[in-house]
Amino acid sequence: MAQATAEEDAAAPPDATTRQRKPKSPDGARDAEPPRDEFRSVASFAPLAEVLGSYLSESDLARVREAYRFADEAHLGQFRQSGEPYISHPIAVAELCSQWKLDAQAMIAALLHDVIEDQGVTKQELVERFGAPVAELVDGLSKLDRLKFPNQQDAQAENFRKMMLAMARDVRVILIKLADRLHNMRTLGAVPSHKQRRIARETLDIYAPIAHRLGLNQIFRELQDLSFAYLYPTRFSTLRKAVLAARGNRREVVNKILNQIGATLPSAGIQAQVFGREKSLYGIYRKMREKRLSFSQVLDVYGFRIVVERREQCYLALGLLHGLFKPVPGKFKDFIAVPKFNGYQSLHTTLVGPFGTPVEFQIRTEEMHHVAESGVAAHWLYKDEEASVTELQQRTHSWLQSLIEVQNQTGDAGEFFEHVKVDLFPDSVYVFTPKSKIISLPRGATPLDFAYQIHTDIGNSSVGARVNGLPVSLRTELHSGDIVEVETDPHGRPNPNWLGFVRTARARFEIRHALRTTNLAESVALGESLLRQALVALEVDPSALPAANYEKLVRTLGARSLDEVHADIGLGRRIAAVVARRLLLATEGATVRSGVDSDGARILIHGTEGMAIQLAPCCSPIPGDTVSGYLRKGHGLIVHTRDCETARRLRAKDPERWLDDVAWAPDLQRSFDARVHLLATNARGVLGKIAAEIASSDANINRVATEDFEPDGSIAVDATVQVADRDHLALVMRNLRRLPEILKISRPRG
Ligand code: MN
Repeated sequence: MAQATAEEDAAAPPDATTRQRKPKSPDGARDAEPPRDEFRSVASFAPLAEVLGSYLSESDLARVREAYRFADEAHLGQFRQSGEPYISHPIAVAELCSQWKLDAQAMIAALLHDVIEDQGVTKQELVERFGAPVAELVDGLSKLDRLKFPNQQDAQAENFRKMMLAMARDVRVILIKLADRLHNMRTLGAVPSHKQRRIARETLDIYAPIAHRLGLNQIFRELQDLSFAYLYPTRFSTLRKAVLAARGNRREVVNKILNQIGATLPSAGIQAQVFGREKSLYGIYRKMREKRLSFSQVLDVYGFRIVVERREQCYLALGLLHGLFKPVPGKFKDFIAVPKFNGYQSLHTTLVGPFGTPVEFQIRTEEMHHVAESGVAAHWLYKDEEASVTELQQRTHSWLQSLIEVQNQTGDAGEFFEHVKVDLFPDSVYVFTPKSKIISLPRGATPLDFAYQIHTDIGNSSVGARVNGLPVSLRTELHSGDIVEVETDPHGRPNPNWLGFVRTARARFEIRHALRTTNLAESVALGESLLRQALVALEVDPSALPAANYEKLVRTLGARSLDEVHADIGLGRRIAAVVARRLLLATEGATVRSGVDSDGARILIHGTEGMAIQLAPCCSPIPGDTVSGYLRKGHGLIVHTRDCETARRLRAKDPERWLDDVAWAPDLQRSFDARVHLLATNARGVLGKIAAEIASSDANINRVATEDFEPDGSIAVDATVQVADRDHLALVMRNLRRLPEILKISRPRG
């Protein structure tokens, strides 16, 4: 949520509906104003009174009616931007609250929620007329109304804290506030467009997550879809059209499934309601973005909900479904035994339906369904106090109490904000810097995302990371609470492979940017040393060649600059030896032979070069290995071990692209990936033992994959370990060989 709005409008009232005051008649004879009667139909109390009459006592209803009259009077002459009289808004908010059957106090507060803020009514006045509890509710709501969530982190945290505390004191405050926000979102069309975006962003970032945390899923979905429509109108309407079109095509499959279930469940004595389930548009949109799926991949999953009478019937129905269609392994989840944090309960399973399409099922009782749709509001809605409703109520209460405790322990709004965020935004992880600063990242983020979040330079020069003190690879998934440290190297460069695993848009953007800009510089530097090396091989001192020769070379090659020639060599588009000979021809006999120190011409590998010099994944060279370099066209220098099989094959085809004057730089302070191939007996816990042995050899495991089970019952394990050099790897392998479970150990050679 940290990204509140850029287009903050400080002067605007916090409500979605900016008010326009029309002048009152000079004598103040309000009842005589003509527009009122015309609008009486849209702003009528009668429909609300009818709903309230179904569950409130007569005396309570009378008090609510009195509140309506009071609000009507207070808002008289005030209009919404749609042109409707203002009172239509509190009535609509109260109507939403009446759907949850909120009590009389809450209904009164809903009707009065804007009178303190807009109409100069005092809290004391409300205490006298409607009692202290109602006045407290209205006061809490008015304070919320004044909160804005500007882009400034501190102000935002402070407002957020106020909101959560108002909510913690009385859940009804947030229920009314959510109803208020929902009505404002439903009527957002009348508001100027720059405000629409701000309000929609705030709704998506703050109010929708709160609705979700409290289990108010119905409101949550509607708030998300409305925000989506105003934030991304084109994407919204494209997606909506596609969904409508797809719905027609799906009818046949849906009916087929419905019929089959409809026939099977009653035969086992289960009375069930079966519904086809539609995903919200924002839900589809998010899934497409996060999992990088196409529209049809997201929509090709059919969703059904089965509501049964009793808990045990859920499991019974599940069994019957698994008899009808084949289950997809690993997709079954029991949220009945282990409810979600917001009280949600259901069985989830995915089956292979007709025509091979995956079909998702949610199976629940009616009671679970109530909680799933209305969350904490189910407490008012279903007075019979079912166990799960009571439990959710208690759990919400203790969560809200914990907020007050946090508040008492820390006076710092920022800290409070960070604490609550963990509860409110479960799609994020919160990790710490070594100095205990909290960094929020999307779920699945890696130390590299973390590094870029801290600073672009840190991201670009990352070579390794530590999580909770232990070395890990840059692609490790982070978890909430991890303490993350990034190791950097001044020679470090972004690697194109990084794009394959970073999760944040920022990291992706910065890596692409850095690759574009550093690539050229690196290739130029590499090409320059390759050319120097080729000249030395011809016993020419490169520094003794006059500049004019280089200029002539550039012209004869048709290049724009010497840098371009160097870059071409570095990228393998030109061969250094050929260019060197051309250069000598250009000097027309003025050869400058000398005994140059041949070591000065070697290409040194630091292992952090990024694009221009890469370590081949087939043999994973490490310091100490004798290596060769292959100039791959357009890619730069790929370093292989001298005994790599892949290298040997490539060399036979293309010998002039190979360099043997490649060596490791001295004093390398980082670790390198090396592959180890193991054959082990398939004993219980063998992977754990292997991992422990590697760790006790001071190496770090980057990846372990059991490849396959051999016919004799042994398993092949492919592991990538991070080691300092060849000696270190030898130690690791020696230690592994000591394990009785290890049958064979080797290092793949390409
Ligand atoms: Mn309002």
